[in-house]
Amino acid sequence: MSVARPTDGVLVDRYGRIARDLRVSLTDKCNLRCTYCMPAEGLPWLAGPELLTDDEVVRLIRVAVQRLGVTEVRFTGGEPLIRPGLTGIVAAVAALDPRPTISLTTNGIGLDRLAPALRAAGLDRVNVSLDTLDPDRFVRLTRRPRLDAVLAGLAGAAAAGLSPVKVNSVLMRGINDDEAPALVRFAVAHGYELRFIEQMPLDAQHGWNRTDMVTADEILASLRRAFDLRADPAERGSAPAETWLVDGGPARVGVIGSVTRPFCGDCDRTRLTADGQVRACLFATEESDLRGALRTGVDDDGLAERWRSAMWGKRAGHGIDDPTFLQPTRPMSAIGG
Ligand code: SAM
Ligand code: SF4
Repeated sequence: MSVARPTDGVLVDRYGRIARDLRVSLTDKCNLRCTYCMPAEGLPWLAGPELLTDDEVVRLIRVAVQRLGVTEVRFTGGEPLIRPGLTGIVAAVAALDPRPTISLTTNGIGLDRLAPALRAAGLDRVNVSLDTLDPDRFVRLTRRPRLDAVLAGLAGAAAAGLSPVKVNSVLMRGINDDEAPALVRFAVAHGYELRFIEQMPLDAQHGWNRTDMVTADEILASLRRAFDLRADPAERGSAPAETWLVDGGPARVGVIGSVTRPFCGDCDRTRLTADGQVRACLFATEESDLRGALRTGVDDDGLAERWRSAMWGKRAGHGIDDPTFLQPTRPMSAIGG
């Protein structure tokens, strides 16, 4: 029996999942070139008129929060700190009623300078991506000599009271896969919460292959050789990270096994790209054009209805292990990671 799609209320899909967590990409551009994300020469960036303006971004977030039940907004990219209007966008979202939780995923460059203003504007939390503590490896991974800037950004976030500061790390075989314990020691020493993320097939060069991927099992084995890990008794809910207490706690480490331990059944995300396309999943092959709708005069009810319709079509899972799996044509930096 097919189930009818509700025409009002929250963003529900045909499997009964409700999306309350909105990821908003503010730009596809970046000041790093992480090898698992983009090629050395960068990508054909979106043209200015294709990008949502600050007012358009805020309007779509308002529709999501006030008509569709979204309670968490995370800004990402590309690198969101290079979006000129970021602080104003955060302030406008923080002024919404009801006020969503507001967070940011960033490579941390410039965060030492921007964190106080972002905090004052209403930013609640940050995730900073850091894959290595070794300057040479940092250059191999990101193709830019900016490790010190990232470390300063982390410290600046903590000093500005953006708590908890989370750190995201991707391990790459033969480059930094021996560094998991050192990254944990660093995070514990600074009071950051570290999460390892399995590398996903989302790079623009389509260079991902499963045998090169450092799996959640491998990461945990490496951590268990260095620490006593106990399952974290805290409720996981829809959070993608499985967390462990390090040496009895309270410090914790998380592992996001997006590929080998998929959490699609509990997914509560919806995504908006920098050019105003709604995606039901990182791995979706379809997008729904809200920018076009918005610019041709569709009202907020109409935008909400298009968003609901896009989410209703969300697939049950990402299907990376399916032989028919097709990598999305847009890379992670354009979708918003
Ligand atoms: N530039 C920001 C940053 O690096 O945090 C935000 C965008 S980035 C696409 C978001 C997150 O996705 C980062 O933590 C990054 O490490 C992660 N990421 C990028 N490409 C990935 C891939 N192929 N597999 C797994 N994670 C990836
Ligand atoms: Fe830039 Fe983030 Fe992609 Fe690295 S992962 S190239 S910092 S968008």
